[in-house]
Amino acid sequence: MKRIGVFGGSFNPVHLGHLLVAQAALEELQLDRVFFTPASESPFKPGITLAPAEQRLRLLRAALAGQPQFEIDAQELGRGGVSYSIETVRAYAGRHPAAKLFYLIGADHAQQLPAWRDAPNLAELTEFVVIPRPGQPLAPPPPPFQCRALQGFPLGLSASQIRDRIRNGQPIDWLVPPAVAELIRNNRLYL
Ligand code: ATP
Repeated sequence: MKRIGVFGGSFNPVHLGHLLVAQAALEELQLDRVFFTPASESPFKPGITLAPAEQRLRLLRAALAGQPQFEIDAQELGRGGVSYSIETVRAYAGRHPAAKLFYLIGADHAQQLPAWRDAPNLAELTEFVVIPRPGQPLAPPPPPFQCRALQGFPLGLSASQIRDRIRNGQPIDWLVPPAVAELIRNNRLYL
């Protein structure tokens, strides 16, 4: 593999916004593979308890079934604790020393990059790819980050919105893949 996309996030639950980010990156950057790396605990959501790892993984598996260009990497779940991207990116750099790494982020995260753990090292190991998110300015992060923006398929959708809709008894069909909607319904998740 020569060009690898790493897509970190809570995926609580995975939704069409995430899948469109991955698809846009795959096409626009001609990636060989996009790895979805669900976080154990997000450093950006302190004190917020995510749904159990196994549940988030199950929904991700359903969303990505039959899509060999998208893979799930559970390394952050395996490490446990707060998940820092630098550790994940170091692992990819070690596993694929000849590959170019692209770390995918929504536009809401770009300005916070300098505050990420070990930012200078992170900026050396990976290029960041910012995907437009409706309502978020698409400004590049400050140096030393190498960064490019994609056209993407902007979709104003978030996992919090999906969780709110489930709690309010509103449908989530068309916002998540059908297999994910079915698993959420059948297992009464996020109620
Ligand atoms: P929550 O609403 O729970 O905060 P979220 O939908 O923002 O969650 P995360 O799983 O935390 O999703 O995000 C993973 C990554 O995907 C982040 O970089 C986030 O910016 C990006 N992302 C999520 N939804 C979209 C979207 N609709 N468009 C572009 N990027 C997105």
